[in-house]
Amino acid sequence: MSQTLPRSPVPASPSAASQVPDVELQELVKQFETDTAVKGLNLAIKQGEFFSILGPSGCGKTTTLRMIAGFEQPTSGQLLIQGQSMARVPAHRRPVNTVFQNYALFDHMSAWDNVAFGLRVKQVSKGDVRSQVGEALKLVRMEDYAQKYPKQLSGGQRQRIALARALVNRPAVMLLDEPLGALDLKLRKQMQLELANLHRRLGVTFIMVTHDQEEALSLSDRIAVMRDGVIEQVGTPSEIYEQPETAFVADFIGETNLLSGQVRTNSKGLPQVATPSGLQIHIADSLPNGSANGSVDVSIRPEKIDLSARAPEQADNCFQGHVRHTMYLGTHVHCVVELTTGDRLMVLQPNQAKHLPDSERPVYVSWAATDCRALAA
Ligand code: ATP
Repeated sequence: MSQTLPRSPVPASPSAASQVPDVELQELVKQFETDTAVKGLNLAIKQGEFFSILGPSGCGKTTTLRMIAGFEQPTSGQLLIQGQSMARVPAHRRPVNTVFQNYALFDHMSAWDNVAFGLRVKQVSKGDVRSQVGEALKLVRMEDYAQKYPKQLSGGQRQRIALARALVNRPAVMLLDEPLGALDLKLRKQMQLELANLHRRLGVTFIMVTHDQEEALSLSDRIAVMRDGVIEQVGTPSEIYEQPETAFVADFIGETNLLSGQVRTNSKGLPQVATPSGLQIHIADSLPNGSANGSVDVSIRPEKIDLSARAPEQADNCFQGHVRHTMYLGTHVHCVVELTTGDRLMVLQPNQAKHLPDSERPVYVSWAATDCRALAA
């Protein structure tokens, strides 16, 4: 039996398909009575991409996904799927399918009937229903549970049935709205692997909404970080993590230290940031875009900072302080170091069974200029 459900509709030629984004948002706006949930989004999502929309609660992620699905109408702007305007295309005619956090399965139907439902509505022949439902259940490894009812299934199994039900209609684009949000951590990790495998095998475009940054980083080809109805940055997981363009992105994705200051040029002509507390931080990049008056936030990831009992012989940035707090995390130790200036830095040290410095003795924190980023304040 084939393990690849074909996409529908089939593109005219591979080269034509690759040039047209699968999903394109142009200046998309959604205004509710008092709230503008989405404020002029522009996005081009490629065929076969695993694309995540990430952001805090209320930033407009779900509204964006619902507009792509056709459950909400944009107030203005354009939405194209496979190059076609969706302005007059109702939800059930779009080549997309949605998987929701709460599964949205019919409780009174078996797993098989839940998956078959959409095909029967479309009056697909009995033989085709049988083969397509069987294939979809096999894809999510649920063929042995076909006759069970949702209440007889675990959360992970129910979510697999929901995935099979969305896949059986052979969508060009799968929309996933916090698909693993209702699962406990261990199951969630397991299902993340399954989603990644499914995506790889099918070659279908996945657009996932999540507020879980780790999930987005580990699964996505690209991520859009949203805040308050706008996109702050679009990039690959490593671009978003290593080269955040705004302090919000740096702070939202992972953990970071942010130190505010003014960009100056030192006597050697190199850029550095002076904080009001008196730190001079050497940075590799010069003034970021959008910081006309030189005010910046310097972002330094906790794992990029070295902690030592003696000052290193050579370091772009080295400051003295005291460890004020430590948290044992198994593979790592999380420390809070208070510098002599009063600034506090989070430091993440790999657990190498070294003795942790006590709070009485001074310590040194150091990091390379290339490991910190100046962001427009
Ligand atoms: P969450 O992660 O909490 O689901 P989200 O980023 O998905 O949040 P949305 O659900 O898109 O956010 O909501 C964005 C904004 O639009 C919020 O301020 C919300 O209150 C508002 N909103 C969403 N749906 C409606 C609606 N049907 N009527 C009025 N306001 C709405």
